[in-house]
Amino acid sequence: MISGRCAACKNQRRKCPSDCIFSPYFPPNDPQRYLTVHRIYGGSNVGRMLQKTPPYVRARAADCLYYEAQCRIEDPVYGCFGIISQLVQQIHNTQSELTKTQAQINILEFQTPQVEMNSSIEQFQASWFE
Ligand SMILES: [Zn+2]
Repeated sequence: MISGRCAACKNQRRKCPSDCIFSPYFPPNDPQRYLTVHRIYGGSNVGRMLQKTPPYVRARAADCLYYEAQCRIEDPVYGCFGIISQLVQQIHNTQSELTKTQAQINILEFQTPQVEMNSSIEQFQASWFE
């Protein structure tokens, strides 16, 4: 059960009002979540961002702020951009490998006439029953 002040109000040592903007997204049982966004953006900026965000997307906004703040702490230079760059590089490498593999398949198909391949398969299958 979650009770008492939210993590933000607890950190700021103030009373947590019933309409606290932080309360739904920064519960008291996860103080690290608030400390992470507070460290990167500042508590009042996080509060302002949440207030300017429509209520139906605030939970996702809070999750994004937390994730991006974590990334920025782990990689102060690139943050989330570092992860995005790695993923783009992986996609590029995989596309390159796929193109090479498709080219090799095309070469093998060109070198091996279909009739010859079919007769090889039939000979192989016939050998099963001998
Ligand atoms: Zn609060």
